[in-house]
Amino acid sequence: MNKPVIILGGGIWGCLLAYKLKESLPDVEFTLYEESSVLGRHEVWTFRESDCLESISWLRPLISKSWYEHRINLNDSQKTYHGPCHLIDGQNIHKILLENLPSHCIRLNNPITLELAVQESSFVIDTREVCHFKKCSYKHSLTMEVELQLNHGLNAPVLFDTRISNDDSLRIFSYFPLSPNVLLIKDSCFSHDLSMSFESRRSEISSAILNLGWRVEKVLKEEMSTTVLPTSKPIYFQEGRVISLAGLSHDITGCSIPHATKLIERIVNTSFRFGEIKEIVSGFRCEIERDRSFLRYVNKLIVQKKSHHLMEFIYKEPELLENFSRGRLNFIERSRILWEHHFH
Ligand SMILES: Cc1cc2nc3c(=O)[nH]c(=O)nc-3n(C[C@H](O)[C@H](O)[C@H](O)COP(=O)(O)OP(=O)(O)OC[C@H]3O[C@@H](n4cnc5c(N)ncnc54)[C@H](O)[C@@H]3O)c2cc1C
Repeated sequence: MNKPVIILGGGIWGCLLAYKLKESLPDVEFTLYEESSVLGRHEVWTFRESDCLESISWLRPLISKSWYEHRINLNDSQKTYHGPCHLIDGQNIHKILLENLPSHCIRLNNPITLELAVQESSFVIDTREVCHFKKCSYKHSLTMEVELQLNHGLNAPVLFDTRISNDDSLRIFSYFPLSPNVLLIKDSCFSHDLSMSFESRRSEISSAILNLGWRVEKVLKEEMSTTVLPTSKPIYFQEGRVISLAGLSHDITGCSIPHATKLIERIVNTSFRFGEIKEIVSGFRCEIERDRSFLRYVNKLIVQKKSHHLMEFIYKEPELLENFSRGRLNFIERSRILWEHHFH
């Protein structure tokens, strides 16, 4: 009997791959290994529909919440973009995968080494975000779900509120209305320093919410993380019968969904043989590298040269924001960003 393919890791990449694989190639035998007791890491992922228009039909069953528009609040103005924005909830993904995949396809509470995975499988697709960067800065993220004392009155997410700024590092502060009095808040600080006082961040967020006119009744969930903000190419392990999907998230925002959906679609559009998939993944890495090297350069401008206004410049323009979110900036857009950096 042929050994199954092993999908290593049940984060967003592993879950999307397993889900789409079952839908498109139901005869492929695979096993998804996850070391914790849940798929989807208790995370929530948000994305604009325009980030992955081509994939929205198969993503739709996984979406827990949608809004028909989204906003940007700048110091001197407010902009509304009439394009849908969606949220995928880890808890929901966990439930859907458990309901849709045969039980032998999912191994929870099952940490597996890469060596063992190679022995036990026909080949391994390693979806863990395990990679190194010779040079990098850091992104300190605080995600909170808060219940407010009164209704917030928001009907659309605010993807970037520049009124909540930080003198020292770029800050992307966004909030998503989950119910009339519950908000999901995402706050990311881009910094050269690895250390960050999350205690002071928490109190900054409380006063930011107060400045927006709301009072927190209860913090329902809170998650802190420090992730790499790449300023050089990722280095990842890929030897033997292993295909690594590491280091493929957006170099500035860290979002996975735009690249993940695109690459997964290409993968399931094959006869699912090792050599074929390996070629598709390395081709995809090459294809997006020119855009990625530019985004990594922008990271340097943001963190080292403190060119914080670049993000405001990008978020202000619908088309520029659309291509930026997808990680695909054209020559004119890149030139405009560099012009803004040098002459603003
Ligand atoms: C604060 C924050 C907010 C984000 N928000 C968004 C967003 O809104 N939209 C978006 O698109 N992206 C977002 N991202 C990025 C995205 O959520 C992913 O975390 C990231 O891209 C990596 O995903 P992954 O699936 O590749 O790896 P991981 O999330 O690292 O998942 C790997 C999985 O493998 C498991 N594992 C590890 N070792 C083993 C082992 N030996 N055996 C078995 N299992 C193992 C882990 O438990 C984990 O579940 C965000 C990231 C952060 C930090």
